[in-house]
Amino acid sequence: RTPPPPKQPPPLIISGNNPGFIGAPDQRQERCQYIINEGTSTTYIKGRLLGKGGFAKCYELTDVKTKKVYAGKIISKSRLTKPHQKEKILREIELHKSLKHRHVVAFHSYFEDNENVYIILECCSMKSLVHVLKCRKSLTEPEVRYFMRHLVEGCRYIHQQRVIHRDLKLGNMLLNDKMQTKIADFGLATRVEYEGEKKMTVCGTPNYIAPEVLQKKGHSYEADIWAMGCIMYAMLVGKPPFETSTLKETYVRITANKYFVPPHVTRPARNLITKLLAADPQNRPTLDKILSDEFFASGHLPKNLSISCCESPPKFT
Ligand code: ADP
Repeated sequence: RTPPPPKQPPPLIISGNNPGFIGAPDQRQERCQYIINEGTSTTYIKGRLLGKGGFAKCYELTDVKTKKVYAGKIISKSRLTKPHQKEKILREIELHKSLKHRHVVAFHSYFEDNENVYIILECCSMKSLVHVLKCRKSLTEPEVRYFMRHLVEGCRYIHQQRVIHRDLKLGNMLLNDKMQTKIADFGLATRVEYEGEKKMTVCGTPNYIAPEVLQKKGHSYEADIWAMGCIMYAMLVGKPPFETSTLKETYVRITANKYFVPPHVTRPARNLITKLLAADPQNRPTLDKILSDEFFASGHLPKNLSISCCESPPKFT
């Protein structure tokens, strides 16, 4: 029997819904300058808002003692009224806290007070690839090689830990101040319990949903490879492959595997997209196969990218 590690934080119970605060906690959150983890007596100063999600608001938090800057995901308990919403947060914490890799957002700690649940994460100050693409419209092939390599390496680690992310998308590819990609948001992730296990449902709606997930046929790691195909396409083309004006029509196209790759996309890039978006999950390449694909050797693969790439295409000399 192994004893629990000494500094393990107490389990989250997400107790109480603070009915007295309904309508008000967001304002309290806005005003409060300090956030205290009572369990470890750590005080954070709340800084700028980094982003808002379905449940969470994410702020820059500075540990007053060490001066280290983190991203603090703050989830108001008044919004966690249904049992499955609490379960989602608990699962996210449970899965994410065990992951440690240079291309996965580092998990630092978590705690709760009467109003909120706090998840303290590595801070990715350059936001996400969604923001880059909004500004740039589309990216060059060297940049796509660079970001895809980070994504594959991070995802290979996640899969080795028997976790399927299930919501890989541009908005979950965060960037730090060195333009390194970090996979974020394990809210829809799941752990594979035994070899060959097929998951039948997802508690939520993945953005780049794979056909086998949509059709509830049973899915596994290959659903993440499909999402990578959508991400690669979106980076090169400027919009996702199956985008239409309605979700229903998008789902029809996903099921029919109907998408169009514009002619400016080079042959090696087009070929890799086709492999990643194979309708049958069995036919999609493994992560190792992706990295050895012709696409990565068919042109420049930068070691680093400048933050100026967030606004304008890089000039490689
Ligand atoms: P939710 O689970 O409620 O959807 P997200 O995990 O998507 O919340 O976080 C909300 C937003 O906060 C994200 O879109 C992103 O812009 C920002 N964010 C999340 N984590 C970080 C981080 N580690 N560093 C910087 N910004 C982050």
